[in-house]
Amino acid sequence: MPTEQIQIRNFIDGQLIEPVGRQYLDNIEPATGKPYSQVPDSDSRDVELAVAAAVEAFRDWSHQPAMDRSRILLRIADLIERDLEKLARAESIDNGKPLSLARGLDIPRAASNFRFFATAILHTENEAHVTDGIAFNYTLRQPRGVVGLISPWNLPLYLLTWKIAPALACGNTAIAKPSELTPMTAFLLCDICREAGLPKGVLNVVHGTGPNVGQAITAHPRIETISFTGGTVTGRKVAETCAPMFKKVSLELGGKNPNIVFADADQEAAIAGSLRSSFANQGQVCLCGSRVFVERSAYPEFVDRFVQAASKLKVGDPLDTTTEQGAIVSKTQLEKVKFYVDLARAEGGKIALGGAAPEVPNERCRDGYFFPPTVITDLPVSCRVNREEIFGPVVSITPFDSEEEVIGYANDNDYGLASSVWTQNLNRAHRVAEQIHTGTVWVNCWLIRDLRVPFGGMKQSGVGREGGNEALAFFTEPKNVCIAK
Ligand code: NAD
Repeated sequence: MPTEQIQIRNFIDGQLIEPVGRQYLDNIEPATGKPYSQVPDSDSRDVELAVAAAVEAFRDWSHQPAMDRSRILLRIADLIERDLEKLARAESIDNGKPLSLARGLDIPRAASNFRFFATAILHTENEAHVTDGIAFNYTLRQPRGVVGLISPWNLPLYLLTWKIAPALACGNTAIAKPSELTPMTAFLLCDICREAGLPKGVLNVVHGTGPNVGQAITAHPRIETISFTGGTVTGRKVAETCAPMFKKVSLELGGKNPNIVFADADQEAAIAGSLRSSFANQGQVCLCGSRVFVERSAYPEFVDRFVQAASKLKVGDPLDTTTEQGAIVSKTQLEKVKFYVDLARAEGGKIALGGAAPEVPNERCRDGYFFPPTVITDLPVSCRVNREEIFGPVVSITPFDSEEEVIGYANDNDYGLASSVWTQNLNRAHRVAEQIHTGTVWVNCWLIRDLRVPFGGMKQSGVGREGGNEALAFFTEPKNVCIAK
């Protein structure tokens, strides 16, 4: 347990430095409700310094052979793995997530992000076309320059490195802004980058709030590429700022994902999978399936077994390795979760499990932000609780009678990020997957990731795709060269 207040620094031009205004925000540990470190409350002056460093660094970095960039990024991956325990603990304290989840998923995936893009750039091909015997066309893919990378709090290091790794691998330099709620692992990453030999100015990390730092990044004329992950309302602001400047923008936004269980599914697997997709990271994963639809003949048994299994999830101190449900990230987020549970009651829902603050896990966590796994039934499909993103450990379960009906339910939502379908009928799996309007459809699984596949959302869940070739394309500018014969 850290007792001293660590003061986080910005990382600009290879140096860990104080914000220009010397202002800091308290960084609260969600499990205790108490400040445990301080995060720079930076502003446009700090962004200005970071841009100057990134512009300068771009000249060399963009001309480094891919193999050299690759070597440095692979070293970063190795160092993340070396520091896994330290990073996992920091992320658990910062975010409230169970240590086991940070250790088993977030931090290893952050290392994988660097490893994947470090090697991907060694195997890219350029397109070439011979044009009717009169010309030869080839496409150069060049780094775009200084890019802005803005990420949320739910998977702090994983999502930030999902942007940093491809951006740097392609030869760009970057200004990254982690969420002000979870800045610690990004801070620790800066030391790793220095140790790995990343040249100064290639990665700059500016901490602070969205309106101060995020806005300054998106509005800056020298930052022509923005990769943003966060809520849909914020995404809209980012789009509004970037559109008049014709910036290239990728938006990964919110979700209200359907999880569909047919009666012919392996119910054992569907319940175990649904438990994870409902409550992983206290339901604070953009891909969580918060709308569960179960075919009517299987519905009563599914609800019974699901509620029973969810009631056994251990809510506890995130640092206790047996904890399965940690703390909600902030007081504001906890209030939001409570608001939606009250709304569910008002909208006619029946609370089948949870719904009220759990027992205090231990003395240390007396003032922490805890909420138990909560299952709601009997809600109308079209009510607010079933339409709006809650981003907490709250799911509603609704019965359905036909494939057509449940596809309608799944698609009747402004979001379109991801979905799960549980069935043993292969034809049905293909049929339903084709008709659901989400960027990812998992069949008989959840959260399996292959870094090569395009990742992103439809409708209000986002614009653009990340992952594999999509990311390499996003962070480069294609230029066609046409040579007459
Ligand atoms: P948020 O939108 O509040 O904040 C995201 C980031 O944007 C933070 O770093 C924040 O400081 C910054 N920001 C805030 N205002 C800004 C502004 N005006 N200009 C620029 N940046 C600004 O989101 P959050 O609460 O941190 O994260 C939760 C949300 O993120 C949920 O909606 C979740 O679904 C979404 N999310 C989406 C994905 C995905 O891949 N689609 C992944 C994870 C989380």
